[in-house]
Amino acid sequence: MHVVIMAGGKGTRIASVASDIPKPMIPVCGKPILEHEIECLKAQGLTEITLIVGHLGHIITEHFKDGSAFGVKIDYIVEDTPLGTAGALVYLKERITEDFLLLNGDIIFDVDFHRFLQYHKEHGGVATILTHPNNHPYDSGVIMADKDGVVTRWLHKEDERTYYKNRVNAGIHILSPEVFRFFDEVKKVDLDREILKVLIPERKLIAYDSPEYIKDMGTPERYQMVIRDIESGLVRAKNLSQKQKAVFLDRDGTINVYKGFICNINEIELIDGVAEAIAKLNESGYLAIIVTNQPVIARGECTFEEVEQMHEKIETLLGEKGAFVDDIFYCPHHTDKGFEGERPELKFDCDCRKPKPGMLIQAAEKYNIDLSQSYMIGDGMNDVEAGRRAGCTSILLGGNADVICRQNLLEAVDYILNQK
Ligand SMILES: [Zn+2]
Repeated sequence: MHVVIMAGGKGTRIASVASDIPKPMIPVCGKPILEHEIECLKAQGLTEITLIVGHLGHIITEHFKDGSAFGVKIDYIVEDTPLGTAGALVYLKERITEDFLLLNGDIIFDVDFHRFLQYHKEHGGVATILTHPNNHPYDSGVIMADKDGVVTRWLHKEDERTYYKNRVNAGIHILSPEVFRFFDEVKKVDLDREILKVLIPERKLIAYDSPEYIKDMGTPERYQMVIRDIESGLVRAKNLSQKQKAVFLDRDGTINVYKGFICNINEIELIDGVAEAIAKLNESGYLAIIVTNQPVIARGECTFEEVEQMHEKIETLLGEKGAFVDDIFYCPHHTDKGFEGERPELKFDCDCRKPKPGMLIQAAEKYNIDLSQSYMIGDGMNDVEAGRRAGCTSILLGGNADVICRQNLLEAVDYILNQK
């Protein structure tokens, strides 16, 4: 797969770190950001690279030359006048005839690109964008997609929103050569607004959700955090080709205040300290995954859409406090029949309703999780039992059974993070 890296752009917002070099050349742990990117690509056999350079581009060409010193083959497109985030692709129109990877040159990541490419091919989009939750969704654009990953809406920072899933474009894309139909002449093109968003009504823009490590360094704080994460090995460890560890979280009574069966979104209210606890997990390298029984769907008291809106509210409230969950699994099933308005197709003895471990096992398959290195935290014995059956360590909140008990999620997370 050919790789195109957008390596123009100035490092304006972190000018205190480096001012007279292009942003991709800002040093992180002794080498430029772009060199970290190229090493990650090379490690996965992605060695055909085109760098698009502009402002102060000679600093980049002098460092990387033809790429041979870095084990890859690099050529360059030099923009005399800035062509926006995609205009330079016009120069590749005749050359690229297969799916290719398009990256921003100013982000630190470690992504399993083979997994990403396979997803792109299975979903048949003209473009697949890598999306992920971040700790500042309220000032990020957010992407909405249906259950098949087809993007349905793209909200920019300034667009109004109430509750939304924390899903942000990470700046890593796989494009099919069909995308060159947008490029006929040399002119400025904005990738997001003039190419990707245009594909939405055609249902040809796909989102690929990944919990892998991808960060830009827009602020000095984020820059320092990335350095810490490279040095601790976290960036590498979160590549999905490596075994992951997770903390599975019950929902009602663990994350949001327990109010019996919740059927009304207004009843969703975060417990104090929960966002703080989950933010700690986010920085620790554990995936944070909600697994919740929602028999209200089978009982006909709530629709799938209503439950998902509640989850959007939970993600929004967490996001406002800098925390996110990596995924949410819910069981809509129930066995007891006889409720008015119930949905017979969901009334059966499924494998996912806790205390069965089905949701944890599904998550383990999806994210390559080592369950023996993972935890289940909840306020009920069905949580403890689901965790035990999946091979995780379980923590019961507020209880006094023969298991590890902590009073609340924050104390449970502190317990986990102090294990090493
Ligand atoms: Zn189920």
